[in-house]
Amino acid sequence: MRCAFCGFTESRVLDSRPVEEGRSIRRRRECQQCVRRFTTYERLEEVPLIVVKTDNRRELFDASKILNGLIKACDKRTIPVAVLEQIVNDIERDLRNSLEREVSSKRIGELVMQYLRKVDQVAYVRFASVYRNFEDISTFMEEIRKLQKEIYESREYGENGEINGIIGEEA
Ligand SMILES: [Zn+2]
Repeated sequence: MRCAFCGFTESRVLDSRPVEEGRSIRRRRECQQCVRRFTTYERLEEVPLIVVKTDNRRELFDASKILNGLIKACDKRTIPVAVLEQIVNDIERDLRNSLEREVSSKRIGELVMQYLRKVDQVAYVRFASVYRNFEDISTFMEEIRKLQKEIYESREYGENGEINGIIGEEA
């Protein structure tokens, strides 16, 4: 950071504090040549994330839209809003980490499904049915069937459908 008085490039930072709710950092510096003090503001560069919709219209990424979609999909379920907010945060982080300036709404939908699936199967199917706009009932049933198979396997059912460890207990 160049000294405001003599132009020397080395300075010592005396104090740093975030300002503007953390969007920039104010630094009090002392020039290592002329020893005069000056203040700099370093602004975090916020790269706008653009969403490309299916009709190719562009709009600014809006996390609240994802949250609203999630809340709708989770209607009458028992998922705390904090969990949904975490999903939104994770998605936004994934998108920003990808360093792409533009992201398709399709990609966002896929991410939502990927996260929602781990949290609530019913909400996942609801979201998927609206989002994917299933062309016909057989596509939808196929999705349900895949999901049931997953639930089935994740609960460690036995080969004949009995839950392992419970077989025989009720006899
Ligand atoms: Zn100086």
